[in-house]
Amino acid sequence: MKSGLYLGRWFGIDVIVHWTFLLMVALLMAAQLLTGASWAAVAGSTTLLMAVFLCVLMHEFGHALTARAFGIRTQDITLLPIGGLARLERIPENPWQEFWIAVAGPAVNVAIVALLWPAAAVMGRVQDLWRGDLTAVSFLTQLISINATLVAFNLLPAFPMDGGRVLRAVLAMFMPYAKATNIAASCGQFMAVLFGIVGFFTNWMLMLVAFFVYFAARGEAQHVQTRSLVRGARVREAMVPRFRGLDPGMSLRAAVEELLADHQQDFPVVERGKVIGVLHRVDLFAGLAQGRCDATVREVMARDCQFIDESMPLDQAFAVMQQSGRSMLPVLHGHSLVGVLTSDNIEEWLMVRAALRQNAERNAMDKPGKYADSLTA
Ligand SMILES: [Zn+2]
Repeated sequence: MKSGLYLGRWFGIDVIVHWTFLLMVALLMAAQLLTGASWAAVAGSTTLLMAVFLCVLMHEFGHALTARAFGIRTQDITLLPIGGLARLERIPENPWQEFWIAVAGPAVNVAIVALLWPAAAVMGRVQDLWRGDLTAVSFLTQLISINATLVAFNLLPAFPMDGGRVLRAVLAMFMPYAKATNIAASCGQFMAVLFGIVGFFTNWMLMLVAFFVYFAARGEAQHVQTRSLVRGARVREAMVPRFRGLDPGMSLRAAVEELLADHQQDFPVVERGKVIGVLHRVDLFAGLAQGRCDATVREVMARDCQFIDESMPLDQAFAVMQQSGRSMLPVLHGHSLVGVLTSDNIEEWLMVRAALRQNAERNAMDKPGKYADSLTA
């Protein structure tokens, strides 16, 4: 999400205004001018919009700087038409840390209200707030009510919005993290549907927020689920122990036959019992497209392949795979090749693990006396 106007590094964090935000400002100005608003009115409403987004930016810094206090870095903060987005390097699993990071954002808006309120009162404008007459209220009172709305809206339990994170953190104090996330995510998706319905009749921006919340809730729940399934597992559990290696002197024509023979897509290339590279399916196709059917595997294979040890934690191997951009990594035990780790197989392994866990949870629910029995047995 780097595309946009770079506003520089504030407190050591990159601040970016996404191009859709700039587009929205331009569209709003054009719409006002087309409906006959004066330049002064357009300037006034644009200034208010900028002030609001400065408040949103400060809200994001509330999250980011609190996260920093817990040793969590923020990659960047982006301003979008639907709000701000602070990309934290990770979400802490410690419920109290997540709680404080989540509430720090809305707390900034509370502080802004607390600061602006006396200023507005001094200017004798505070009554306008109660009248709710939008054409009469001053810049300051509008800003106060918008900040108050931001606090209320963000604290709704619509995970992964702030209120939803608070909900997850509180739940996680009493139950396993993955379960707390599932409940918070379901609640978030329910809220998203509500936002969608209300937004349909009132405000299209709310519909955008609904979309974002719905998919982000599911995405984060899946992420947490995967992480909890992978925890403690080693590469050897999820690798493919049955695979075929290729000879470096083999022609691409012969390699195609190996490819079509079964489901294996990428092949370690082995010379005198040692892996010297990997023939990836994409590279094989590229070679064929260039008419190099008689070229050898050695000429086309990737030599910069990364090896992983079978005892490596699976989540680390995951990260290596993502960084390398490859869908297969050769697995070693000492110096000998004992298997390959593929993204397809990891996916299958995760499904098996999820199914087994579901069964274990069901059994635990069906037989409440189970643990007592095993204690007395
Ligand atoms: Zn927030």
